[in-house]
Amino acid sequence: MSGRCEWTVKKSKLARKTHNPIRHIIENLDLRPNPEKQMIALSIGDPTIFGNLRAPPTVIDALEDSLSSFRFNGYGPATGFDSAKQAIAEYTSTHTTPVYSEDVVLCSGCSGAIDLAISVLAEAGQNILVPCPGFSIYKTLAEGLDISVKEYKLKPENDWEVDLDDLERAIDDNTAALIITNPSNPCGSVYSDRHLRDIVQVAARHFVPIIADEIYEHLVFKGETFVPIADVSNEVPVLKCSGLTKRFLIPGWRVGWIVVHDRQGILSKEIRGGLQQLATRILGCNTLVQGAIPQILRETPQSFYDETVEFYQNNANIAYELLSVVPGLKPIMPKGAMYMMVCVDMRNFPGIKNGLDFVSQLVCEESVFPLPGECFSYPGYFRIVLSVPEEMLEAACRRISDFCDRHYNRKPILISACPD
Ligand SMILES: *Cc1c(COP(=O)(O)O)cnc(C)c1O
Repeated sequence: MSGRCEWTVKKSKLARKTHNPIRHIIENLDLRPNPEKQMIALSIGDPTIFGNLRAPPTVIDALEDSLSSFRFNGYGPATGFDSAKQAIAEYTSTHTTPVYSEDVVLCSGCSGAIDLAISVLAEAGQNILVPCPGFSIYKTLAEGLDISVKEYKLKPENDWEVDLDDLERAIDDNTAALIITNPSNPCGSVYSDRHLRDIVQVAARHFVPIIADEIYEHLVFKGETFVPIADVSNEVPVLKCSGLTKRFLIPGWRVGWIVVHDRQGILSKEIRGGLQQLATRILGCNTLVQGAIPQILRETPQSFYDETVEFYQNNANIAYELLSVVPGLKPIMPKGAMYMMVCVDMRNFPGIKNGLDFVSQLVCEESVFPLPGECFSYPGYFRIVLSVPEEMLEAACRRISDFCDRHYNRKPILISACPD
């Protein structure tokens, strides 16, 4: 029998503990753009918002075919249709690392894949290791589940390679997984084969499985190579999270997946079974888009991929050239993805209190809005997106330059906090 005598409907602990730090920081920023200047938002990691980058015809045709076939209006299996999983397995296989359809779990976006990967490996009271600077969703997902997040440092002076000593120090008996983001949001870094092997060795020494957020796989600039971390891991199991979102320019379609790599059978029944179980919490992901996956992955021409990467690389060159001569700024050239981190030598901007204030004042005077490093747990930097049209990016960089010229200390303190 119930002893209730009034309504008290409270939100759950999961809801209470779920926070999106980016939203929180932005809501508390004083953002009043200069009405004289058109706003240029360099903040949003969605390549479709400016309309200059569009999904290729193969992607649109594939969805139209899926729709008109009437074959993809019903429910599919919880982990996805075998036809979609087969195509993803082919797309993901390399000559050293074959992938089979039973290794694939379809999810709602790559963030859905990361959610599943964290949930299957970790539980309340444990911790996961995340990069700093890093994408905030790991923290949002983990903390809701009472899984704590321990950050390991990346080294800006070394193209954002992992500080391996710091990583090793962070591992303890409660560490359930190590998250690696490669190529990186927010850094645009792309790790070498050598560096990935070093990371895997640390994980192997402490028996920690890896969650590889590879949503930017293949988005690497000319001369760089994308190496999936699973390719260099013999022993350490890897849950690779990826999807169609960034490379195919369709973030709203919500297609992601996990690929289980496990050469030694460490995850066999336990974790694979756990993924199957968790996948049944929702009755599978969008089937219409699953119907389009084989055609998208098999028929999109290389020229589309090349053009997208060329566009980002060209923008990276433009921003780097314009910002590297600005007093008080130090851009770090990315090797892939669609972002650039810029170091701000804060001590030489006497009228600006901190990184958040830098962005507020920049919006107020120049109507240019990069994301403050605080959003990635990394004060002293801001992140710009490289998906904006070239002319807009140029205009934005010039305005940032004017802003810094006005605010930079005339007699600068000699030691800069930015890397050489
Ligand atoms: C954009 C992004 C995601 C989320 O991808 P969705 O498929 O939209 O859920 C995951 N990880 C990183 C690093 C991203 O930048």
